[in-house]
Amino acid sequence: MRSADVVVIGGGVMGCSIAYHLAKQKVQVLLLEREPRLASGSTGRCSGGIRHQFSNPLNVQLSIASILKMKAFADELDCEIDLHQDGYLFLITKEESLRDFRESAAVQNALGVPTEILPAAALAGLVSHVNLEDVLAGSYCREDGVADPHGVTLGYARKARQLGAQIELQTEVVEIRKEGSGITAVCTPTEQIATSMVVNAAGPWSAAIGEMAGVQVPVRPYRRHVFITHGFPEVPQNRLMVIDFDTSFYFHREGEGVLMGMGDPDEPSSFRDAVDWEFLDRVTDVGVRRYPPLAKASIRRAWAGLYEVTPDANPILGEAPQLPGFFLATGFSGHGFMHGPVVGELLADTILRRQPQIDISGFSLDRFTRSMTRPETNTV
Ligand SMILES: Cc1cc2nc3c(=O)[nH]c(=O)nc-3n(C[C@H](O)[C@H](O)[C@H](O)COP(=O)(O)OP(=O)(O)OC[C@H]3O[C@@H](n4cnc5c(N)ncnc54)[C@H](O)[C@@H]3O)c2cc1C
Repeated sequence: MRSADVVVIGGGVMGCSIAYHLAKQKVQVLLLEREPRLASGSTGRCSGGIRHQFSNPLNVQLSIASILKMKAFADELDCEIDLHQDGYLFLITKEESLRDFRESAAVQNALGVPTEILPAAALAGLVSHVNLEDVLAGSYCREDGVADPHGVTLGYARKARQLGAQIELQTEVVEIRKEGSGITAVCTPTEQIATSMVVNAAGPWSAAIGEMAGVQVPVRPYRRHVFITHGFPEVPQNRLMVIDFDTSFYFHREGEGVLMGMGDPDEPSSFRDAVDWEFLDRVTDVGVRRYPPLAKASIRRAWAGLYEVTPDANPILGEAPQLPGFFLATGFSGHGFMHGPVVGELLADTILRRQPQIDISGFSLDRFTRSMTRPETNTV
């Protein structure tokens, strides 16, 4: 029987970052991904946004550390990730949202993040052709931006392999075996691999992995769409992410056109990930009102993927209290790509029983039974 010190389940940004950070510490790690390609789950379908603008200070701390790691990525991982820090601008149209954004900006500023709440009159200098008629104010952070999710994931995977990690594709985990109070093995359809430590980095599918281990993981999948347009004359010059917070419509430049998306609060949780073309009408209705030049744009491509959502929109990080050796890095609720770099390091430290550089106990699994951590309200 093969064995591994740690088996990581899932080859998205989380699994690959964790595998790299463990391999760097000379841990014998085996990553199992059931699809034929890495980043084929949520990671490969994400919009690539990276931001500091969260309401929960722990999410802000994760962003600060993660974005620093992205800035150093090319040097550390020898891989380009198309990082652009052109900012995120939230457009705020309701008084209650403005109150929340002011509070969140204070949280971010206290941690050294230069978020500004700008009056509507000041926003025309940041974005052209956007309808600001009903906008009360904007929340802007110039250090937010976008990066390439495939680049980050494959960069970690390549370096992890060079450091000795094994990464196996088309290998589905179907069972986790336990004996007494611990884990003894992970099973695929063809093999049993002896291990006492497993990381659940299965994104929207984490609840099923939890079930295999007898651990309830409150992560549910929700479909989200992304549409990319062909070029049009008023396409933005830079890659500023503009988010109409109260409708959740967002866009940023992508190639010659724009990438845009919007949540659908009425859509129930499911694993459906096919594009619903009727939804495009709703997105363009809202989008054209906010950004009129979109009326001239045609759609070049579209896809849908799954958010992996927890009850408080915060991630679940660390060891499951009821099962020693079962670690979680999941439930990022639509903002996991940006936290992938630092979460890999934090999980590796937790597994190695070292004090992580950020105290992640507020995001432990048992918060749902103890007391809730401050919910993340700045979700898109
Ligand atoms: C449309 C959309 C836009 C988004 N935009 C952003 C954004 O702008 N910024 C941001 O930070 N985040 C964004 N996100 C969220 C982000 O994509 C996710 O939070 C992040 O990619 C989660 O990474 P992961 O590695 O945990 O999960 P995934 O990338 O889903 O990886 C999990 C992997 O586990 C594998 N797996 C599952 N079960 C098994 C099994 N039994 N055996 C083996 N393998 C298994 C799956 O095949 C999958 O590859 C967006 C998501 C979507 C859908």
